[in-house]
Amino acid sequence: MDRVILHIDANCFFASVETAYNPKLAGLPIAVCGDAEARHGIILTANYNAKRGFGVKTGEQIQHALAKCPNLVIIKSNPQRYLRHSELMRAILADYSNDIEPFGCDEAWMDISNLAKTTEDGAVVAREISERIKCELHITVSIGVSFCKVFAKFASDYKKPDAITVISRDNYKDIIWNSPCDSLIYVGRATKAKLAMRGIFTIGDIARAKPEHLKSWLGKNGLLLHSFATGCDISVVRKATVSPQVKSVGNSTTAVRDLVCDEDVKRVFFVLADSLARRLREKDLSGNVVTIWLRRNDLSSFTRRHTLQLPVDTAFDIAEAALRLFYDCYTLAEDKPLRSVGITVGNLVPHKELAQISLFPDEDISTRRRSLELAMDSVRAHYGYYSICRASLLADKDLTHFDPKSEHTLHPIGDFNAVRPA
Ligand SMILES: [Mg+2]
Repeated sequence: MDRVILHIDANCFFASVETAYNPKLAGLPIAVCGDAEARHGIILTANYNAKRGFGVKTGEQIQHALAKCPNLVIIKSNPQRYLRHSELMRAILADYSNDIEPFGCDEAWMDISNLAKTTEDGAVVAREISERIKCELHITVSIGVSFCKVFAKFASDYKKPDAITVISRDNYKDIIWNSPCDSLIYVGRATKAKLAMRGIFTIGDIARAKPEHLKSWLGKNGLLLHSFATGCDISVVRKATVSPQVKSVGNSTTAVRDLVCDEDVKRVFFVLADSLARRLREKDLSGNVVTIWLRRNDLSSFTRRHTLQLPVDTAFDIAEAALRLFYDCYTLAEDKPLRSVGITVGNLVPHKELAQISLFPDEDISTRRRSLELAMDSVRAHYGYYSICRASLLADKDLTHFDPKSEHTLHPIGDFNAVRPA
């Protein structure tokens, strides 16, 4: 028997929460921004008045958005409010099912096969959930109802805001197959381009293509996409109580101004590495694959990775590895300034297993760096993030005064056989 799965997606989440707190904002074009003061502050979310009325886009610089919409109300983001609303939304969902899988702070899948036998039944439950969220939390959601996770996600995106879309075995070909292939989860720009070269433009084209062809063009991911397009996605909704295995930890930031010299990059790398190292230590993990991501000011981007001999979990080791990669692949004097940078540490193992490797831990420079950073962790736990930092970062406070951990929410990777097409 088919499952009944919902995908719930809050509409313009940050902007809607701000309007829930301040109803006077209703009807105005508003945008929530990282830092409204900074020249390169960017739009994190805009409401539909700003997006549809004035073409304001997520990720765009404040100054560009203001040029299109001079009356745009800019609101500095309040992460605590959004987390609180996200928890409240999840508490409502928990009244209907134990099988809830959050995706970021404003989306979640639910398996409601216990309550609903058909997608039509599912729509009734979806209607009730949507009404409760509207009445109790004063925000709206779009809900997709289907027999698999991929189609439920597609359906929640299909009509917005405040809508419910049902995709069943009977109507999926009509609704889904004519849509462009990049409306399918995991078809990004690179995959879209590869498919277009072969004359594949819609999800229906993917469904009708021979699986072995898709495999030869896209590897294993080709087979996965074929199963998605034909309604054969069998991935389960992962219960919220089961914490996903962390495969990598990453941080990125769009700097307040473009990075124009090696010293700029070094400073920002240290802030990112600091936060990364702290998160690794909190989870008691170390990793030996360091990846850097660089985005130029023309918005083109690329990544480089390096495998270290031993796993690391200190900011010093991570920043050092990241900088070595950077010096190898980029010369700021010759290439374009950088707008955003990121670092990821992967191939993670429990730190305890590692402690046995070094015979003389007291003499090991990494161990000394580690105890220094553990001391910094406890100072910050007591007195706040900005209470202590490397002296070198004080030289350019505008560039380094951000706390990546509290300002960036990383989206977890959904459990689609743990495969991630390009
Ligand atoms: Mg959303």
